[in-house]
Amino acid sequence: MAGTSALSPGHWSRPAAPDDTCDGASGRADVTGSAPYRAQLEARWRATLERVTAMSVAYHEAAAAAGPDRPASQAADPHPPDRASQEPSRLARQVVAERQALAEIEAALDRIAAGRYGRCEQCRRPISAGLLAAQPEARFCSACSRRAARLLTPA
Ligand SMILES: [Zn+2]
Repeated sequence: MAGTSALSPGHWSRPAAPDDTCDGASGRADVTGSAPYRAQLEARWRATLERVTAMSVAYHEAAAAAGPDRPASQAADPHPPDRASQEPSRLARQVVAERQALAEIEAALDRIAAGRYGRCEQCRRPISAGLLAAQPEARFCSACSRRAARLLTPA
C-alpha cells in the first residue's frame, strides 16, 4: 500500500513570518546562518520518518505473526512474553524512540523558523558548530548537555 505521501512536513516549513522567499535559491539565509543545518535536519526528518514507517509496518506484521499463537491480549498477560511476542514490543520501543527523534528534529526546525536555532536553551550561549554538525537537533551546548546527562543518568 502506498498510502498518502507523508513526506512533506508542513507546519515548520512555512514560518509565520511574512518572508516567503526562502526557497533556497534566493540566497537569503536564515537569521543565524542555519540554512545548512536546516537542509540536514530536513534530510534527517525524512530518513527518520521512513524508519518509523518501516518499523511501524514491521511492528504490525510481527504483532500479527505473534497473534495466532497468543489469542489472549498481551496487556492482560503478566508472564514474560515468549520470543515471538518480544519482537513486537522491541519494535514498539524502537518506534517510540524514532518518533521522539522525529519530534526533536521538528523542534529544531521550529527553532530555525523562530530564529532561535543554534543557541543553548539552558545557558543561551551559542552551540558549537562541531556539535551542531554531529547533532543538528541539539538543544543544549555541550557543557549543559553533559551536566544534564550527569543529572539524568544515575551512576
Ligand atoms: Zn548551555
